[in-house]
Amino acid sequence: MEIKYAEFMGSYPSENQCPKPRYPEYAFIGRSNVGKSSLINMLTEKKGLAKVSNTPGKTQTLNYFQINGNWFLVDLPGYGYAKISKKKRFEWEKMIANFLQNRSTLMCAFVLLDAYVPPQEIDVEFINWLGEMHIPFVIVYTKTDRIRGGEEGQNKNIKAIQDELLKYWNELPQQFISSSSNKNGRDEILSFINQLNQQFNK
Ligand code: GDP
Repeated sequence: MEIKYAEFMGSYPSENQCPKPRYPEYAFIGRSNVGKSSLINMLTEKKGLAKVSNTPGKTQTLNYFQINGNWFLVDLPGYGYAKISKKKRFEWEKMIANFLQNRSTLMCAFVLLDAYVPPQEIDVEFINWLGEMHIPFVIVYTKTDRIRGGEEGQNKNIKAIQDELLKYWNELPQQFISSSSNKNGRDEILSFINQLNQQFNK
């Protein structure tokens, strides 16, 4: 799929304030600093579309991007930011759970996992929750260019994450290898979205 158009639409504090549900939507979520903004910019080929920032934990809104006039990319605020207050964390959980469980046009959530760090409990918990709630999702490994030692090293780290998930899951969801630096995974992710767009019933 070619990206002909990608524009920021707006930030919304809750699901019922989001744009009218009439296009297929894809939510992107992961731990703070996982490389979510970079991935969104890479997919849309629009530098600065999603803000790449080194001060995570600030935005607590559902951020909508309109793509090609026929689908929405939703940038969800990251989790796992240590300095966030209990109250803010609770609000985050409520907003995210409400969005993911109730958004009728949500086709798939993309859970981003940093391929450079070992399995994290918070990611596994989140993924298990998605499973319990029957929310369709796929996994995107980010920053795979950072792994030195080529294929072997890359596989070793990703394998540890897969092994951890397989303690809870019989089968893993679809997974994508990505890098915002060298655009790895771009074609695969966009063609996956394109396929789901074809299945969208208004
Ligand atoms: P976010 O907080 O999840 O939106 O993460 P950002 O996109 O702001 O990225 C966090 C940090 O990781 C930044 O310093 C990025 O430059 C870096 N980063 C993001 N994606 C990649 C990638 O694919 N490769 C490398 N090497 N660094 C990345």
